[in-house]
Amino acid sequence: MTLTDQKNPKPTAQQRARLPHWLRLPLPTSDVFISTRNLLKDLKLHTVCESAKCPNHWECWSRGTATFMIAGDHCTRACGFCSVTTAKPLALESDEPSRVAEAVKRMRLKHVVITAVARDDLRDGGAGHFHETVQAVRSVNPGIAIEVLVPDFLDRDESIDKVLAAKPEIFNHNLETVRRLTPSVRSRSTYDRSLSVLKKAKERSGGRILTKSGIMLGLGELDDELRSALTDLRHVDCDILTLGQYLQPTPKHLPVFEYVHPDRFEEYGEFAKTLGFMHVASGPLVRSSYHADEISEVAHF
Ligand code: SF4
Repeated sequence: MTLTDQKNPKPTAQQRARLPHWLRLPLPTSDVFISTRNLLKDLKLHTVCESAKCPNHWECWSRGTATFMIAGDHCTRACGFCSVTTAKPLALESDEPSRVAEAVKRMRLKHVVITAVARDDLRDGGAGHFHETVQAVRSVNPGIAIEVLVPDFLDRDESIDKVLAAKPEIFNHNLETVRRLTPSVRSRSTYDRSLSVLKKAKERSGGRILTKSGIMLGLGELDDELRSALTDLRHVDCDILTLGQYLQPTPKHLPVFEYVHPDRFEEYGEFAKTLGFMHVASGPLVRSSYHADEISEVAHF
């Protein structure tokens, strides 16, 4: 079945059960994995690698990298694809920025990705906490490339400005899926709001910042819908794109409609390049922060 054949995207039980060989990963033990885990535990830090049950958890931690998740591990939204806990949010920890900075130093990272849960309970959506964390990381780790992967901040100018004022190198905000599927996939977010956030980040930084976005495949999107979404991202001057396979984190989450073949990821990646993205990562196991440091080779931070 191809994407263009899909009329009614409801997966069969058989489709849900079968995991193709390109998604079956070995889980060997690794000393670096264990030291990464111990370091994060020691500094009481959350990662999206664990909270979102990322399939690359073993590989990334074994490379000595991880994506930090700040502002607690309770999210105010309940997106159908995401396994981060939805619950009453926790108070912000004033020493969290310095703990992230210390972790980055101990891990000797050259490129760090910092994300957060959505904090709709806070007036600034958590933008101030992002700002402080970026500044703390920079002050302890001069020369580092910092990528923020932010929620939509309800598209508030002042929150976007607050994050930009900390001068991260990359402003990442995921579109997650195509326009038609957005209401069923994302909680409270809208397709146009996400495009607006990316557009504002580029414009309000005076074009200085690199913007980045990601889309999950396999949720029932049609071929032309995906191509439209990629085109929409380029229309707001998005520089960097990630495309990866959606995997159902628990049986309570949205089912996988289709395991997209690696050849089609290749095809979509090639199409995206023709649209003018500076950098494209497209493959079944690609995630927003997967091998995020590779952009440094292209962008020369
Ligand atoms: S891809 Fe990103 S979220 Fe997943 S394990 Fe790697 S660093 Fe963590």
